Amino acid sequence: MTDVPEADARTEDLRSRLAAVHGRIDRATADAGRDDRPELIVVTKFFPVEDVLRLAALGVRDVGENRDQEASAKADAAAAAAAASNTAGDLRWHFIGQLQSNKARSVVRYARSVHSVDRSSLVRALGRAAAEHRPADLGPLACWVQVDLSSVAGAAGDGGGRGGADLSQVLPLADAIAATDGLTVAGVMAVAPLGVDPDPAFARLARIAADLRAAHPSATGISAGMSADLESAIAHGATHLRVGSDVLGPRPAVG
Ligand SMILES: *Cc1c(COP(=O)(O)O)cnc(C)c1O
Repeated sequence: MTDVPEADARTEDLRSRLAAVHGRIDRATADAGRDDRPELIVVTKFFPVEDVLRLAALGVRDVGENRDQEASAKADAAAAAAAASNTAGDLRWHFIGQLQSNKARSVVRYARSVHSVDRSSLVRALGRAAAEHRPADLGPLACWVQVDLSSVAGAAGDGGGRGGADLSQVLPLADAIAATDGLTVAGVMAVAPLGVDPDPAFARLARIAADLRAAHPSATGISAGMSADLESAIAHGATHLRVGSDVLGPRPAVG
């Protein structure tokens, strides 16, 4: 079983990186003239559950993962460690990666939200899975419609490949989520196109989010902004940031 690690050099490393990221969020929020500070989701993919527990001890509650196999194992280990101590309870797990429909059953058991809903077959799979396998204490599954911004002006030809639904599918997908018991529409999510200024893409996402809110007033979320572009995302109204490497350090080799 995993024990909650004693505070160590790695804890201090995480503490200072986390403080630096919070400082950037504070400054960007002030620069944008916003009084609603975005939520930070710390993306812990490829890092061991011990780091999740260190982060929990530092006050982090929201963590993001992009692969079910890794996420489910860490969620179980963290829950077991929390049960055995009083330091690492109430973590909220957010699923942020490409999700195969056959993993829906597993994801609904631990995830607070899925940020990467990109097709109607996945909405159906999540709905069925939530009806049968969702623990009641997790509440409805918050679903974000992931938008493909690779076609937005300013994106280079090959800004694609970062996932998400075509712009024309955002409202139909939100309608499908809203019509499914056990799922709620949280908002829109996107990853900025690679290698270009993220501003035009995040500006476009803000307009897409406004259109979505007109149809689904409770869908107020904008999940955007990673280590490299969180300032731009905050300037364009991001409500949830997904930050990995600037908190945890460079990711270890894929394993
Ligand atoms: C890995 C990942 C992140 C975090 O990226 P960093 O550049 O490490 O901050 C955010 N969103 C998604 C969808 C990811 O896969």
